[in-house]
Amino acid sequence: MKHQFDAIIVGAGGAGLYAALEASRTAKTAVLSKLYPIRSHTGTAQGGIGAALGSVEEDRPEWHCFDTVKGGDYLTDQKAAQILVEDAVEAVYHLENLGLPFSRTPDGKIDQRRFGGHTRNFGEAPVKRACYAADRTGHMILQTLYQQCIKNGVRFFDEFHVLEALIDGDRCNGVVALELATGEIHTFHSKATFFATGGFGRIFKTTSNAYANTGDGPAVLARAGVPMEDMEFFQFHPTGIYRMGILITEAVRGEGGILRNRAGEPFMERYAPKLKDLAPRDMISRAIIDELRKGSGIRGDGKIDDYVYLDATHIGREAIDKKLPDIAGFCRTYLGVDPADKPIPVQPTAHYAMGGIPTDLWGRVVRNAKGDVYEGLYAAGECACVSVHGANRLGTNSLVDIIVYGKRAGTDIARYVRDADFGPLPETADDRARAGVKALVTGTRGKPRGEITARMQETMMELVGVYRAADEMKAAIAALRTLRGEYREVRVADTGKGFNTELLEVLELGNLLDIAWMTALAAANRTESRGAHSRVDFPERDDTNWLKHSMIRLVGDGYEIGYKDVDISLYPPKPRVY
Ligand SMILES: Cc1cc2nc3c(=O)[nH]c(=O)nc-3n(C[C@H](O)[C@H](O)[C@H](O)COP(=O)(O)OP(=O)(O)OC[C@H]3O[C@@H](n4cnc5c(N)ncnc54)[C@H](O)[C@@H]3O)c2cc1C
Repeated sequence: MKHQFDAIIVGAGGAGLYAALEASRTAKTAVLSKLYPIRSHTGTAQGGIGAALGSVEEDRPEWHCFDTVKGGDYLTDQKAAQILVEDAVEAVYHLENLGLPFSRTPDGKIDQRRFGGHTRNFGEAPVKRACYAADRTGHMILQTLYQQCIKNGVRFFDEFHVLEALIDGDRCNGVVALELATGEIHTFHSKATFFATGGFGRIFKTTSNAYANTGDGPAVLARAGVPMEDMEFFQFHPTGIYRMGILITEAVRGEGGILRNRAGEPFMERYAPKLKDLAPRDMISRAIIDELRKGSGIRGDGKIDDYVYLDATHIGREAIDKKLPDIAGFCRTYLGVDPADKPIPVQPTAHYAMGGIPTDLWGRVVRNAKGDVYEGLYAAGECACVSVHGANRLGTNSLVDIIVYGKRAGTDIARYVRDADFGPLPETADDRARAGVKALVTGTRGKPRGEITARMQETMMELVGVYRAADEMKAAIAALRTLRGEYREVRVADTGKGFNTELLEVLELGNLLDIAWMTALAAANRTESRGAHSRVDFPERDDTNWLKHSMIRLVGDGYEIGYKDVDISLYPPKPRVY
C-alpha cells in the first residue's frame, strides 16, 4: 500500500511527538511507531528534565551550559549545548502550559532537585536544576505531547515497523514499513522524513533499556550509507538493580541517597571530593567497578558482577513515598526490599547512547565531515547526535535534548515542506524490503536467533563495557563478524502474516548486530580515554590527537572511519575534576 504525507515522523517518543506537534502546524504529518506511542521508552524516564529555572535557588543557563560541556569531557559541541540550555527554560514552561503536571514548591512554582554533574557558578557546588513530576517525568511528557498531537490532527500509524529509508543520492523520499497486524508492506512517500527511534541499550546484556531499544533508525540509515557519529560513547548508569539492570534513578542520590561499599564506607568521597555521589555517571560507574575489583563490593570476591549498596534509608519514608513512589515500588516488587528500611543492591547498567545519526543544529542529517546535509532527512533524540552530550551525558539532559531538538527539527520541517516538492519515487521502491522479509521466512534455517542475541550481548558486556582494552575489543570485533555471518542464515519458523513477533525480533537483531559492530569498531579505533570511553591501555584524555568526533560508515561488508571537528568556541578544554 502507498501513502503520501508532507512529513513522516518515525518514532513516537518525546522527540518524535514534539517534532510532529511542530510540523503539523502547517504540514500534513504522519507518525509511524513500532510501539503504541505512549509505550515509547521516554515513558520510563523517572528523574527529571534539566532547566535553569531558578525556582528554588539561583541558577543560570550559562552554568548549565558549562556543566554540559564539562560533563561531556569537552567532546560536546558548545553552540549546540548553548541552544540546549537556553531553549530548555522556555520548553519546560511550554510543557507546563500544554498541561504537564510538574511537582510544585509550596508557593506553586515548578519544583527542582539535584542531579549528577549539575552545579552552580561553574562547578562550585551542586544546584537544584531537575524539574520533575514525582518519578514519572517521562511518562507525563509522553501523555502531554500525545494528547496535543491528537488535537492537531496528526495521523498515527501504530505498530508499523520501519524497514528501510528511501534515500536517493543526497535526498530522502520516505520510508518502507511493515504493518505488524497484517504483515503488509507499506510505502510512505514524503517531502521530509524524521527519525526519532530512540536508543540501543539492547546490544548489552545488562541494560536499563526496554526490549524495543534496538537501534533501528541508526541501523537502517547506516545501511543506506549515512555515517554514524561517536558510536564509541555508550553510557553506563551507576545504579541499575543488581542482576536486572532496571534503573534506580539518579534522583535517589539527588534526594540524598549515598553509595556504600561492604565496609559501609561512603566511597564516592574518595573519587569526587566536591560532588561525591552527585558526580557524573561515567565517574561513578568506574568508581563502583574499582571498588568491586579490589574486593570492596558487598560480596567481596573481586568480580565485576558483584554489587554495592545505594542507601536511601535516611531520606525518610514520607519523602520517598512522595518524591520517588515508582522507585520504591520497583524495589519492593523486584528485590523484596523497602528502600525506607534497607539499602538497595546496585551495579552499573548500560543506559544511554551518546552517539548516533549526525545532525546540524536544526536536526538535518549530516552527510560528511564538512557538515553537508541530506535534503529532507532529519533526526533527533537518543538515536541522533547533535552532540550536546559529548562523551558523557549528564542526567536530565536527554529529556531536554528530545524537547529542544525535537521541536527545532519540527519547526524546520514545517518551513522546508512549504517550498519543497515531492521527490521521484519509483514503482519498485519497496522491492528490496519485500525481498528481505521474504528471504527471512523461506529457505533452510541456520543458527537460532536467541543464541546469536545472547552471544552478542555477552560479548559487548564483557569486552566493550565500562573499561576497555585493545585485545578485548579486537576479540569482540572478531566475534561480532562471525555473528553477523551467522545472522545471514537465520530464518523464522513462524511464517504467519499477522503479528509475527518472531519476524520482528529477527529484524531487530539484524539492526542490533550492525550497531554493536560499529560501536566496537569505533571504540577500538579511539586510543584515548574520554568520558564514558575508558581504556585501560590509554588511560588519559588526548586532546592533541582525539579532540574530534568519529564518523563510521558501513561500506559493503566493511567500514571506513572519518572525523569531524568539535566546536569548542565557548569553553577551552580543561582537566575534568569534581
Ligand atoms: C529507565 C530510564 C530512565 C531515564 N530517566 C531519564 C531522566 O530522568 N531524565 C532524562 O533526561 N533522561 C532519562 N532517560 C533517557 C531518556 O528517557 C531517553 O533518552 C529519551 O526518552 C529518548 O527519547 P526518544 O524520543 O529519542 O526515543 P524513545 O522514547 O525511545 O522513542 C522511540 C520511538 O521510536 C519508535 N521506533 C523505534 N524503532 C522503530 C521502527 N523500526 N519503526 C517504527 N518506529 C520505531 C518506538 O516505537 C518509539 O515510539 C532515561 C532512560 C531510561 C532507560
